[in-house]
Amino acid sequence: KVRVRFAPSPTGGLHLGGVRTVLFNYLFAKKNNGDFVLRIEDTDQTRYVEGAEQYISDCLVWCGLTPNESPDKGGPFAPYRQSERKPLYREYAERLVEQGYAYYAFDTAAELEQKRKDVPNFQYSHAYRHEMRNSLSLPLHEVEQLLHNGTPHVIRIKMPEDETIAFDDMIRGRVTFDSNVVDDKVLLKADGMPTYHLAVVVDDYLMKITHAFRGEEWLPSAPVHIRLWEVLGWKADMPEWAHLPLILKPDGHGKLSKRDGARLGFPVYAMNWFDAKSNELTPGFRELGFLPEAFLNLLALLGWNDGTDQEIFSLDELIEKFSIDRVSKAGAKFDFEKAKWFNAEWIKRSSAETLKLNVAQALKDAGIAITDESYLLKVIDLVKDRCTLLGDFVQQSSYFFKQPAEYDLNAVKPKWNEAKTAFFKEFISILSGAETYNAAELEVRFKALAEQKALKPGDVMLPFRIMLVGGKFGPHVFDIAKLLGESETVIRIENALD
Ligand code: GLU
Repeated sequence: KVRVRFAPSPTGGLHLGGVRTVLFNYLFAKKNNGDFVLRIEDTDQTRYVEGAEQYISDCLVWCGLTPNESPDKGGPFAPYRQSERKPLYREYAERLVEQGYAYYAFDTAAELEQKRKDVPNFQYSHAYRHEMRNSLSLPLHEVEQLLHNGTPHVIRIKMPEDETIAFDDMIRGRVTFDSNVVDDKVLLKADGMPTYHLAVVVDDYLMKITHAFRGEEWLPSAPVHIRLWEVLGWKADMPEWAHLPLILKPDGHGKLSKRDGARLGFPVYAMNWFDAKSNELTPGFRELGFLPEAFLNLLALLGWNDGTDQEIFSLDELIEKFSIDRVSKAGAKFDFEKAKWFNAEWIKRSSAETLKLNVAQALKDAGIAITDESYLLKVIDLVKDRCTLLGDFVQQSSYFFKQPAEYDLNAVKPKWNEAKTAFFKEFISILSGAETYNAAELEVRFKALAEQKALKPGDVMLPFRIMLVGGKFGPHVFDIAKLLGESETVIRIENALD
């Protein structure tokens, strides 16, 4: 059975690339009737950030990418938080030491630092390991003594010399590494915690992960992982890897970094992320007014397409159409204008019913309480084509809920005059006497009256809009008048004529 995992380290908020990784894992799992596992890789306590794990699960909820197994939900391979699995990793590291694939290293932080000073670009590898204090360089009795005395030590992998380490990536094809340039990574730390490298391999094995999608930035770690799968004797069970293409800055020059958002004026995080340490708030797509459907849609197309011109895909469609062969190796440029286009498209395509909670919230934040839901639904339907972000509903619809505070009837040429006043006075009586009140009929009567008064319809149409809306924007003015209702329309004209 297909089993994939998203294995974030809780070190901060999730940015675009992180959620795209979730999405591709998820799509692949669902497409193959598999399981999607969320595993929290929190073994590096120095990088642990309070609130990050909660953020990750909230983000999956917002996106609707629900894991089958997770720390919250549990599952057959629980626990799903690596810090809670701490005791189980040591055995594997010790086994590798016994078999000669790993070794104890006793170097202190000061010694390592000194070495780094002495040797430019120092790497703890076959080139230097014999100069360091470890179970490969020290005599056996000394090692035993050090261990016996409880000397703090780590376990490092012993990378082979002059070997080619290779694997077949689902996206990149054959990938090879020269083992000489890979350092002897720490597997188990002095406090008994595994490092990411050991934990990721042990857990992918124990949790029976069959396919793993992760960002290209993990490619340099792959030789260490491949080696571990081999020497632990699990090579036959190694997941198929897919290293996802980088997400690039809008100009295509280099990887989009977390800091680019602030610099370029757009969000790179899924949701607002507040970092308590730096007291900094990094804005997110959700709070900026993106729909999760649009967010997932735009992420899916960062590195994937279905081979046609189609750009709008629902999650179900993505599941149906997703295929690894169509994921590109090349980095994908992130274009915020395009991202907003996706959102506008999704707002257009969403029913008022699905938008209502978000819109009501946005209006509420702007001081407008909604009392009549069916009215809200009609308003949404009328203005949604004009909204790119959910917050745009405030500007585009508040006049439906409160009368405009200011009018500038002279904003329209020719200037306001007696003839226009007379026109609107008479129009009020037409409105009040109308048997049916619909947009088309209103328009006919309005234009007929203008003609009768020898006014160009355009000269009174825009003022009419300003009376109702308070500005020169919005949908068809007679649709607005219809939705506002006869008496409210009359009141607004009267207010303006006062
Ligand atoms: N814990 C790693 C991270 O923070 C996971 C990388 C992987 O998927 O192997 O992204």
